[in-house]
Amino acid sequence: MKYKKKAKSDFTHIDPVCGMEVSYNTAPAMITHENKTYYFCADACRQTFEVNPELYIHKFNKTQ
Ligand SMILES: [Zn+2]
Repeated sequence: MKYKKKAKSDFTHIDPVCGMEVSYNTAPAMITHENKTYYFCADACRQTFEVNPELYIHKFNKTQ
């Protein structure tokens, strides 16, 4: 019986702004909001998130 390798999700996070997969090792931008850390593919996405975090968190939680 095959079993899954260590879950990919341990190493990747979804950029809540654009939906891209980013590795926490290489993510160029991150932010901690209400004790949760979000990773972004670019600083521009982080800035977009900062303007209206609730909007993106809502979207993010829906896709999880
Ligand atoms: Zn992005």
